[in-house]
Amino acid sequence: MIDVIVLGGGIVGASAALMLAHKGQRVALVERDFCGSHSSGVNYGGVRRQGRPLHQLPLSQRAHQLWADLPGLIGIDGEYVRSGHLKLARCHADFAALQAYAEQTCGFGLGLQLLDHAELRARFPWVGDVAVGASLCPEDGHANPRLVSPAFARAARRLGASIFEQAEVIRIEHDANLFHVNCANGLHLQAPWLLNCAGAWSGAVAAQFGEPVPMTSAHPAMLVTEPLPLVMDVSTGVEGGGIYARQVARGNCILGGGRGFALGPLQARPGQAAVLDILRNAAELYPFLKGAQAIRTWSGTEGYLPDHEPVIGPSSTRPGLLHGFGFAGAGFQLGPAVGEALAEIVCEGASRQPIEAFSIRRFQA
Ligand SMILES: Cc1cc2nc3c(=O)[nH]c(=O)nc-3n(C[C@H](O)[C@H](O)[C@H](O)COP(=O)(O)OP(=O)(O)OC[C@H]3O[C@@H](n4cnc5c(N)ncnc54)[C@H](O)[C@@H]3O)c2cc1C
Repeated sequence: MIDVIVLGGGIVGASAALMLAHKGQRVALVERDFCGSHSSGVNYGGVRRQGRPLHQLPLSQRAHQLWADLPGLIGIDGEYVRSGHLKLARCHADFAALQAYAEQTCGFGLGLQLLDHAELRARFPWVGDVAVGASLCPEDGHANPRLVSPAFARAARRLGASIFEQAEVIRIEHDANLFHVNCANGLHLQAPWLLNCAGAWSGAVAAQFGEPVPMTSAHPAMLVTEPLPLVMDVSTGVEGGGIYARQVARGNCILGGGRGFALGPLQARPGQAAVLDILRNAAELYPFLKGAQAIRTWSGTEGYLPDHEPVIGPSSTRPGLLHGFGFAGAGFQLGPAVGEALAEIVCEGASRQPIEAFSIRRFQA
């Protein structure tokens, strides 16, 4: 007998399985490929709160607490470091936007520090002179998604969750009490709860239960350089977007920016134009990267809703169905707290963090 079926083994589904198992629920997680093989394992690795919309901040702050004891949660440190996140402004209007964000969020405990041009030069001399100022969130950081996300699934398994990989869900039925989930490999599961954590592919499940969402897929472009002398001591982004970069302990710099393209429903590539844009922006903002050799490029498939907010919480049409998807390129940091919120709905009837803003009802006419 199973209490909860989790559809999707990304960081959201796997952390939900972990939190549910921790609360004594009998959980089965079904993953089409391997846990953490899609967005959750191929993302940039930014673990940041800075820049999030205000109503994501309570959930993001809770995630920040969970990340603090990653080894206690999943058994590895996942190369997680609280390096700080430096958001650069390329013009005075962008710096004013960073100042306004710092004012709006001062009650959330992000500890933002605004740096003018001189302070930026003094503290981070490797930043290109085109940056006129920046906002530093000292406790934000970065981690290795290829290590972290599969480790959530392994930790759930250690607590007794059944993890089924290479098990593509092809049919879901619901009778009065139970969801019946059928996989292409013949696996059949039934349970009173179903968590729709299928990432960019979650829309089909929502639509099947009469609550379609206008979700689209997009493919952030990424590249990594050869190992270089250690220079960047923070993860960086830019107000208005365009590029983000971090350097890992081995010296490789990981950069992201722009959009790639889909090869098909499951595969994405970064595309030449996005890669050239990243390299152009990098030379300007991080001059030490001029001439660095890019050794690999990649992309992934991520779900975006028009308001760039996720869907988290109960279905409006089917008791027992919960959604957690559509993280618009920013769900790696939130993932553990989203899993916890979904587990709380199952076990305690409600999430401790406010999630009303993410209700699927906002797409109903
Ligand atoms: C290139 C890139 C860079 C990013 N950078 C960052 C960042 O720096 N910081 C940040 O916070 N976020 C970032 N993100 C976003 C973040 O990675 C995602 O928001 C997050 O990983 C979403 O997790 P998920 O579990 O919802 O989805 P996924 O990781 O996509 O997991 C969903 C899983 O469901 C499975 N599935 C789907 N359909 C079925 C089916 N029918 N049967 C069985 N299994 C199924 C899939 O195989 C998949 O493994 C980035 C995303 C990308 C693509």
